[in-house]
Amino acid sequence: MIPGPVEFSPEVLSALGQPTTSHVSPDFMECFGQCLQMMRQVFLAPSSQPFIVAGTGTLAMDLAASNLVEPGDRALVINTGYFGDRMGDMLCRYGAEVDYLDSPVGEVACAERLREALKDKDYALVAMTHVDTSTGVLTDVKNLSAVAKDAGCLTIVDGVCGTAGAECRSDEWGVDVHLTASQKAIGVPPGLALVTVSEDALRKFESRATPVPNYYADINNWLPIMQAYEARKGAYFGTPAVNLVYALNASLREILDEGMEARFARHRRLAQAFRAGASAIGLKMVPKTEELAAPTLSALYYPEGIDASLTGHINASGVIVAGGLHPKISDQYFRVGHMGVCNESDILATVGAIERALATMDDAFTAGAGVTAAQKALSTSG
Ligand code: PMP
Repeated sequence: MIPGPVEFSPEVLSALGQPTTSHVSPDFMECFGQCLQMMRQVFLAPSSQPFIVAGTGTLAMDLAASNLVEPGDRALVINTGYFGDRMGDMLCRYGAEVDYLDSPVGEVACAERLREALKDKDYALVAMTHVDTSTGVLTDVKNLSAVAKDAGCLTIVDGVCGTAGAECRSDEWGVDVHLTASQKAIGVPPGLALVTVSEDALRKFESRATPVPNYYADINNWLPIMQAYEARKGAYFGTPAVNLVYALNASLREILDEGMEARFARHRRLAQAFRAGASAIGLKMVPKTEELAAPTLSALYYPEGIDASLTGHINASGVIVAGGLHPKISDQYFRVGHMGVCNESDILATVGAIERALATMDDAFTAGAGVTAAQKALSTSG
């Protein structure tokens, strides 16, 4: 129950274990081509160009930053924590003049604040993290992207902890680059960087005056490869992670079989049930309101008198949760991922394990109220 790598389905794991084919075998070309087509549906990005590249989520961020920024461009990062800082560092590295729209821990700037900030300078792009993995904060991508696009900016959404779990209608909402990694709600072990790039972003890329200062991530190297695979033709720039792409095919198929609307609703419902359980035993969330809390991940403060050894006690019950990540509060809270193949029983087992851990650490704590509240939330939400 950590925020990635998550649990993977048996079909995905068995696709990983099949014999590795040539990257230009007819079977693999078909598999890769289908993945690109399915990505457009999962990212709700029908008119965008998908990219599947071997690497981690950080490479997906690098791909966005290195291709879209030229020295002197102004970029605004709507910052919610750890990965917003990382995106800002990258944009700086590629020569952008970066400003941050910061918020207190557990909050995120609203559309009105963004509108004001965009009046100050002539920004070329706005970057945001959909679900902040360090705080569990959910960013309002729909309204923030609309404001950024109105101001003529390109938008980058880091969806690593949200994509395929938290609703993101890339094309409709004006997301120019929607990037993620395989190991979270996409449901594939770590190793794939997945990115969709809009027509606007491709135009900006094509009008670059300077070469992309990153050889591996350069879209010029990858675009012909993606176009070839989609036409079921072989092509080579860097050897694809063949087995991970077979696994991605299995997972994207499962995601689309569930249906995007049903999948978003399931993630919301499980998150609400988990947080109903947590709240019933007095655990406070890092996000300031339920509206700001992500459907894929919960960040919870340790209760009064309980320290970070709580996670070890939870892990001892067979449920693995993660410690804090945001540098300002890292020893005050823990994180629970509820995404991908996560189900009702996982939620109940996790709330139960937290209760048992608290009972071990605090004689005055009686277990039961959390699981009862989570059960009630699950049974009333259909
Ligand atoms: N962005 C976010 C929001 C993340 O959660 C992560 C990984 N936890 C990354 C980027 C970086 O991904 P990776 O670790 O796969 O490089």
